[in-house]
Amino acid sequence: MSYRLYIPGPLTISESINQAMGKPMVGHRSKDFVALYEDMQPKLKKMFMTQDPVYLGTSSAWGVMEGALRNVCRKGVLNCMNGAFSDKWNDVAKRCGKYAEALQFDWGKPVDPEAVRKALATGKFDCITFIHSETSTGTLSPIADIMAVVREFPDVISIADSVSSFSTLPINKDELGVDILLTGSQKALALPPGLAIFAVSERARERAKQMTDRGYYFDLIEFHDNHSKGMTPSTPCISLLFGLQHRLIEVEAEGLENRYERHRRLNEQVRAWAFGKGFSLLPEAQFATRGLNCFKNDRNVDLERLNKILKSRHKLVIDGGYGKLKGKTFRISNMGDETDATIATLIAALNDGLAEQGM
Ligand SMILES: *Cc1c(COP(=O)(O)O)cnc(C)c1O
Repeated sequence: MSYRLYIPGPLTISESINQAMGKPMVGHRSKDFVALYEDMQPKLKKMFMTQDPVYLGTSSAWGVMEGALRNVCRKGVLNCMNGAFSDKWNDVAKRCGKYAEALQFDWGKPVDPEAVRKALATGKFDCITFIHSETSTGTLSPIADIMAVVREFPDVISIADSVSSFSTLPINKDELGVDILLTGSQKALALPPGLAIFAVSERARERAKQMTDRGYYFDLIEFHDNHSKGMTPSTPCISLLFGLQHRLIEVEAEGLENRYERHRRLNEQVRAWAFGKGFSLLPEAQFATRGLNCFKNDRNVDLERLNKILKSRHKLVIDGGYGKLKGKTFRISNMGDETDATIATLIAALNDGLAEQGM
């Protein structure tokens, strides 16, 4: 059974991406691979707004989220936490044997730059993690204000997750001074899962060189050495890279500014529908992310029943809340390839599904 995914990743894969991924395989040490790799670099740098190399890791985002810590956290990491993914990062850091402290905010609240300043001023940390768009709560943290604070601490390497914000709105890596900016394939880029994409500063690589236990699979120095040859350290998910290559061509054709505008517009359309039905956003509107919306289930909808109807009758699904927010919130993605038409279809289906519950 095939149905369209309006959950915040993975998303439905377009026909054009599926076709691109079906290209004949090439060897990962071949000239053809180097051509593929080098064709994508300038386009990726443009999207990341950086002069830094953009590495391609064969793993989901968590691979790089863990690997980054192993490369740059020597003294301690400050984990800014305001939702399921950012909270987990603290646990991951501890499992890697790192000294890690939680800077906890309520779910649905953004990271507060002043609290970051206070914590970093203790001198206990040489790196920081935060999530730009906390997908579990649909919350966007003020990355410019956070990075303005982080830049006051030259020893602190910043690791920022843009998994559900990348390419939905501008994130100027170099201007912000983010050291490691990472994203994954299956959210804002609407590719299949399995690829992590991350841009890394020279500062972060210099730190990595001092680390003796950074491992192999996510060793930034290995990534960089191979990058210089247009390759990856180990055999990557080449089919997915064909998909990424095609995605980059599509993004270029659309234009980044138009892409941001499309995401903003579709995001507003979903918001307007939900507000009309009596639902409110979980975060304050000014901190609500643009690739998805996380609404409070103000009207006590039976979300499982709603999704059953959406799936069986309309061949689509939304998300019924993540982790401890299950049943209390619902999330609707407008990332990737959504258009005015696909969002209109979704809204009509939602209206039908809610009518079943007398709404
Ligand atoms: C989905 C997501 C992740 C985890 O991604 P995986 O691909 O499952 O490793 C991390 N951070 C954010 C913000 C996410 O939305």
